[in-house]
Amino acid sequence: MTLPNTDRTIAAISTAYGESGIGIVRMSGPEAKEIAARVFVPYGRAKDPQNQKQAPRKAFQFKDRHMHYGHVADPKTGETVDEVLCVFMKAPHTYTGEDLVEIQCHGSMVSLRRILELCLENGAQPAQRGEFTKLAFLNGRIDLAQAEAVIDVIRARTGKSLETAVSQMQGKLSEKVRAVRKDLLDLLVLLTVNMDYPDEDIEEATYAKILAAVRGAEVAIEKLLANADEGKVIREGLSVAIVGKPNVGKSSLMNLFLGEHRSIVTDIPGTTRDTIEEQISLRGIPLRLIDTAGIHESEDVVEALGIDRSRDAFNKADLVLLLLDSSRPLSEDDLALMEAAEGRPCIAVLNKTDLPPCVTESDIRSRLKTAQIVATSLLDDEGAEPLKDAIEALITGGKVRREEDILVSNSRHIQLLKNALAELKEAEAMTQRNEAIDFLEVNVNAAFSYLGEITGDTASGEIIDAVFERFCLGK
Ligand code: GDP
Repeated sequence: MTLPNTDRTIAAISTAYGESGIGIVRMSGPEAKEIAARVFVPYGRAKDPQNQKQAPRKAFQFKDRHMHYGHVADPKTGETVDEVLCVFMKAPHTYTGEDLVEIQCHGSMVSLRRILELCLENGAQPAQRGEFTKLAFLNGRIDLAQAEAVIDVIRARTGKSLETAVSQMQGKLSEKVRAVRKDLLDLLVLLTVNMDYPDEDIEEATYAKILAAVRGAEVAIEKLLANADEGKVIREGLSVAIVGKPNVGKSSLMNLFLGEHRSIVTDIPGTTRDTIEEQISLRGIPLRLIDTAGIHESEDVVEALGIDRSRDAFNKADLVLLLLDSSRPLSEDDLALMEAAEGRPCIAVLNKTDLPPCVTESDIRSRLKTAQIVATSLLDDEGAEPLKDAIEALITGGKVRREEDILVSNSRHIQLLKNALAELKEAEAMTQRNEAIDFLEVNVNAAFSYLGEITGDTASGEIIDAVFERFCLGK
């Protein structure tokens, strides 16, 4: 792990690459202010930029947390790069916990790159991925779970994803985890003094006391894990493949989900030639919808290409929506698809229920035992609502969450909670068998340590480095 080096001042472009109204170059470290003073010229200081060569520049005195207007110029040549706003924030109450400078210029890549270059030429070093946030963690401003939430906030695709990430960034998960750790620490102290000083007059670690403490921690962890599946989907999204024979209503469904006419809806079978992917928010749940060309053999090369991709989408999807036409007898294609979908997470969508029925729910149930069946008429604007209800219920498990419930969404955290729970279950079993406390202490200690990895209290350098490598530059 790279520890914070107080001598190092880092710089990076913190806004997105591309064209935009404004862009920000950020610097953090002990020399940030001095470097900024070398490249920043306040308004009125050099009235005639052409003559700057002659006018020797004195280092500008930044006021803490004041927005200064001026321009950035090369101190060697006097060349003006861009008109900017510059702010200096004094440590320790900054994002990184160090002195911080932000130069806000126009959002042109040329301007941003040139300003970054000038910062580097004047003493800064290029920041690594996630280094600003890593500094915040290493300087103790935020814990590891909060730092991980920063990237989730940046990447949030729906309101719900953002809400979950912000709650984690504010330390709600860390708070709960710390409370459990505190109880486990009390238990560990009790166990240790009883192991080390059995003859002293100390509080006795009775099995009843141990059991109560271990169970208490288990309940708290189980509560955190209760909504983990939903949390994971809200953070990572769900890939949903829409499959079905040609003309069954796949494009119509896609359009209803998208709320616009994106796919081509026609009466001619096989018009959706390729897979079409769209990101949507279904009641706050991020879904990646994959509309497929229909899985059936075809002579047409272009169509066959799409079909291969359909198979792939079908195999990889987290959820398959298998569309069937209720107004026509089940075809070979339908039967083949049902066979392929059996046992997989699947909702069978019995479409065109506005037409005289030919296939019933029980016809499908006899062939597709594991799937849920939803009847729809996708000609109707509201036709996809029952399907949306079914998808939502599948993700939330039908549970209604309370405001104060925490959604654990990060796979790393979920795994660590599961590991801690397994250790506690083991300790519980040992307690019930009245085994020596030295043995069960090992499991309680392991659970304590797993929980510490969530907040970073016991995470190794390697884990911490791996977490920050997922960040983008400038964050
Ligand atoms: P795809 O080939 O599976 O993508 O099917 P489309 O979405 O292109 O639909 C084929 C045809 O079926 C279009 O004319 C749609 O308007 C029509 N259609 C779709 N859903 C329904 C429905 O629920 N009822 C009726 N009557 N027609 C539908």
